[in-house]
Amino acid sequence: PPYLLPLPNVATLPPKLQAAVDDIEQQFDLPTDKLREITDQMLWEYNKGLSELPTDETRDTFVPMIPSYIQHIPHGKEKGTFLALDLGGTNLRVCEVELLGDSKWRMKQQKYRVSDALKVGDVTALFDYIAGSVDHFLTEIGTTASEDEKLHLGFTFSFPVAQTALAAGTLINWTKGFECKNAVGKDVVQLLQDALDRKHIHVRCSALVNDTCGTLMAAAYERGDCLCGGIFGTGTNGAYVESIDKLTKMGYQADELERNKEQGLDKMVVNTEWGAFDNERKVLPFTIFDSRVDRISINPRKQAYEKMISGMYLGEVTRNALLHLVDSQVLFNGFSSQSLNRHYGLDTAIMSALEAPFVPNSPQSGDALTAIRQVLTSELGISASLIDDADCLAAARISEVVGTRGCRLSACAIAATVRQTGGDARDWPEAKKIIFGLDGSLVEFYPRFEQRVRDALRELLGDEVQKRVDIVLAKDGSGVGAALCAQAAQAMEQKGAA
Ligand code: BGC
Ligand code: MG
Repeated sequence: PPYLLPLPNVATLPPKLQAAVDDIEQQFDLPTDKLREITDQMLWEYNKGLSELPTDETRDTFVPMIPSYIQHIPHGKEKGTFLALDLGGTNLRVCEVELLGDSKWRMKQQKYRVSDALKVGDVTALFDYIAGSVDHFLTEIGTTASEDEKLHLGFTFSFPVAQTALAAGTLINWTKGFECKNAVGKDVVQLLQDALDRKHIHVRCSALVNDTCGTLMAAAYERGDCLCGGIFGTGTNGAYVESIDKLTKMGYQADELERNKEQGLDKMVVNTEWGAFDNERKVLPFTIFDSRVDRISINPRKQAYEKMISGMYLGEVTRNALLHLVDSQVLFNGFSSQSLNRHYGLDTAIMSALEAPFVPNSPQSGDALTAIRQVLTSELGISASLIDDADCLAAARISEVVGTRGCRLSACAIAATVRQTGGDARDWPEAKKIIFGLDGSLVEFYPRFEQRVRDALRELLGDEVQKRVDIVLAKDGSGVGAALCAQAAQAMEQKGAA
């Protein structure tokens, strides 16, 4: 495929290995036509989700498109001190965010490990642990807020939640390896508030925020105009600013829409939950490796798109593809290793390490083989005597093939969002950018992530529109975004009291 890097001329693959690698390249190939088909289907699911509430029968046939109840996009002047909690990535984070009012903030934060036992135990244990972490943060790290005012907390909870207000919503299902009992269908804010109250912690949860919405808010605070917040990390998802009159499932009457417009409330941030795109498997390119990853995951037949894109699964798909080569006796002399045999034994960070040595057109390709060999032995435990140059090249190639497919699929969601919001319009002002605030380990660490995504965007949208798209890294944006939502809640409350 033309979008893969030219293989450096440092080793030749034996014919059988070459044939097996070619075969995998073909299975993971996503030509432009296929990208278009996927993007069209995503747009179709977007609009279905905006207009229809899912039932048990239709739940897997379109993306949830959840109203966030966020209607004020920050302008950078917001001020105040707030707590933020962030659950749903690799760690639990507790932060105190000071919004300084000039598009800047100060943040103190502490990470807390969420053990595997907590991820699958009773939900009360998880929330007691979260409340305990808040307590620890306040006593050990301290707050700048005065003693007597109750601190407002914004809770970034990065799972699908059916939101019914800015500070209320029930968990639809877990994702990303979480599977706590007695949580689905419960109000997440209530669970947190009860846990805080049990420990007599003087904090009030006043906003519940998906990490994508938080990322959007943070990018808007920092940069002005932001159209979309996206996460390409452990999981994947996006949120964008939609006109309320397209959110027909909310059932607003014409006069309400008119009134909203007068009050400047005619937009709302929508959490797409695009990770659940095409759970029906109409257009996504499932290989046998994807099916295997899905089948033994905690949530089979869910999060179809996420499982081809995000950090939790990319390494797992790669591991399965490599094992296939081992079992076909064409890689590592037919021998595996403990890590390579272990479910989730190949972390996506290893893909970065395997691919990083191949800087296009670099004269150092010889050293690249040494670097890759090092990763294969020290990170994957393959014994050095089993690895020759061709194996190094093949392993890096498989990683590139799986990762590039992920990037190209990621571009489909970005392109669909551009089209949905009219960003591809002919009369779009020349100087105006379409800003995507992105965060997550792939955006931050995966080599050539943006470049691979852009190549596919160019194929999907044309060069002119592709150039309008501005991708900004909104690092740790979800914490700041949660604080901005707590600020909005506080402002509304004060307005109500006045
Ligand atoms: C969750 C989303 C979240 C995304 C990124 C997905 O698994 O369903 O709510 O935004 O991961 O963290
Ligand atoms: Mg995160």
